[in-house]
Amino acid sequence: MHLKNKQIAESKARLFEKIEQSGVLSTSTLKALASVDRENYVDEKLVPQAYDDSALPIQAGQTISQVLIVGIMIEALNISWEDKLLEIGTGSGYQTAVLARLNRRVFSIERFLELVHVAEKNLESEPNNNYTIIHADGYEGFTSQSPFDKIIVSAASENIPDKLLQQMKVGGIMVLPLGQEGQTQELLKVIKTEDSYTTHSLGFVKFVPMLKGTV
Ligand code: SAH
Repeated sequence: MHLKNKQIAESKARLFEKIEQSGVLSTSTLKALASVDRENYVDEKLVPQAYDDSALPIQAGQTISQVLIVGIMIEALNISWEDKLLEIGTGSGYQTAVLARLNRRVFSIERFLELVHVAEKNLESEPNNNYTIIHADGYEGFTSQSPFDKIIVSAASENIPDKLLQQMKVGGIMVLPLGQEGQTQELLKVIKTEDSYTTHSLGFVKFVPMLKGTV
């Protein structure tokens, strides 16, 4: 193996050993996470850091999520292959790729056209194309495919977006970071009930803000 590839493989093995030891992820989530090569979703010069246990910068001033956080969010969603699944904040497409290992068709919304193209290009490295990237404002949800069983939001809003709640099935789950830009935010698991919803905290996180409109 090429020396550089060997170093990447070793850093991936180290990160996954650490994640596995944390004991918070099921085997199926771990398997889906480990099957995607994060180095395909970062800039050439960040490839040596692809398996750092942190978020990393991507185009348009955004970030690729931390591997463990992607795992925690996916675990909380308890995704089935047949679920109607919506992702808000495609970014690099990394999380989309992990979701596509667990779900028959992932719908993913991104507000930056530049990132829609970046993600589509990055995702060419995946074996399947069971995802649809949509250039739109995630605050609007995705009416034509609603209602959803599961919604995963990768950008922080100050309140739970109304339209996303409306587009969930009763019993459906949404995972999202809530809080102000630049401050610590709370990762929440929201379960829709017949006439309202319940929330459970999954811990504290730092995400880029969820912004209105498209660019
Ligand atoms: N899961 C992604 C994380 C990307 S960061 C990854 O692994 O790469 C969050 C993304 O949410 C950014 O790309 C940002 O542009 C996007 N975003 C922010 N507000 C949005 C909105 N209203 N609708 C859709 N995408 C949004």
